[in-house]
Amino acid sequence: MDDVTTDLLIIGAGPTGLYSAYYAGFRGMSVAVVDSLPELGGQITAMYPEKAILDVAGFPTVKGRDLVAGLVEQAATAHPTYLLDRTASTLEHRDDDVVVTLDDDTRIVAGAVMITSGIGKFSPRPLPAGEGWVGRGMEFFVPSFAPYAGKDVVIVGGGDSAFDWAQHLEPLAASVTLVHRRDAFRAHERTVAQVKDSNVEIITNAEVTALRGEAHLEEVEISVDGQEPQTRPAQALVAALGFVADLGAIQRWGLVTSKRHVVVDTAMRTNLPRVFAAGDITDYPGKVRLIAVGFGEAATAVNNAAVALDPTAHVFPGHSSEG
Ligand SMILES: Cc1cc2nc3c(=O)[nH]c(=O)nc-3n(C[C@H](O)[C@H](O)[C@H](O)COP(=O)(O)OP(=O)(O)OC[C@H]3O[C@@H](n4cnc5c(N)ncnc54)[C@H](O)[C@@H]3O)c2cc1C
Repeated sequence: MDDVTTDLLIIGAGPTGLYSAYYAGFRGMSVAVVDSLPELGGQITAMYPEKAILDVAGFPTVKGRDLVAGLVEQAATAHPTYLLDRTASTLEHRDDDVVVTLDDDTRIVAGAVMITSGIGKFSPRPLPAGEGWVGRGMEFFVPSFAPYAGKDVVIVGGGDSAFDWAQHLEPLAASVTLVHRRDAFRAHERTVAQVKDSNVEIITNAEVTALRGEAHLEEVEISVDGQEPQTRPAQALVAALGFVADLGAIQRWGLVTSKRHVVVDTAMRTNLPRVFAAGDITDYPGKVRLIAVGFGEAATAVNNAAVALDPTAHVFPGHSSEG
């Protein structure tokens, strides 16, 4: 894989990483952003895209996915290089650079690194019956709706993502069946009501017990209340069962950590040269893990990284409105 060379590498494309990318552009840095998920937005995208967030400054209420869309638009001004669906595995120093390797062997040579990896790398919770079916009709994410047009789609799960995708796929799929193992849902009430009112068939107290097909998925077996399974046609299955988080390789980079978090000073510096951190991943006395706090730390970290890259630069950037 080719090397990527950048002034600032951001590890984690959650709200903190996206705002850091904007800020890096504002400070005139080139910026690359890596995330192990195939979509931008971190915990917001993975866990609560439909939730109304009430505590982001300047927005009395903002839906998760709208906040992410705004952050992505703002970050676009920095022309970031996004390296998605890839996990940062190693970090080492070479002369004045920090070199990070991803799990697909891409090497990124950066002047400085910013760790905004939140609660760690998310991995989708597996669907036991779906082993071996990823890419053959089963997915964990629905990044675009068009590939589902005209298909019989089964969605497994009862959270925001499951209901959100059911709602969006219903108008274009041949059929949408939502299968959930309980009869209560974690998704936003209004979305649940809208989906119940649509052509989506909701099967509760149920589980998908088998996937079948030759090269590609053709049908699934669904068992209700542990009864004899029924077979249904399905050319696509979305396993929206949530995610598990794991700090993973970051723990082996020689960073000082405290209870699975990276310790930083008031400039958001870690113990490693030219390696900064911001957002949920950081720890210091009085730390509060909120989106608003991550934004503030991002600005502090990037402005201090600017000085690490160019000692003649000032920490205070001036005001964006003056630019
Ligand atoms: C259900 C729920 C509701 C919430 N509601 C609110 C709320 O109303 N208001 C509020 O302020 N906060 C809320 N929070 C908390 C808020 O989501 C977090 O504070 C925020 O997401 C932290 O942002 P972050 O960018 O620091 O990290 P994250 O959002 O966790 O993003 C980190 C990203 O880093 C990636 N990553 C991790 N390790 C690696 C690696 N090695 N290589 C590549 N990528 C990696 C992950 O895939 C992830 O995308 C809520 C959280 C949850 C779970």
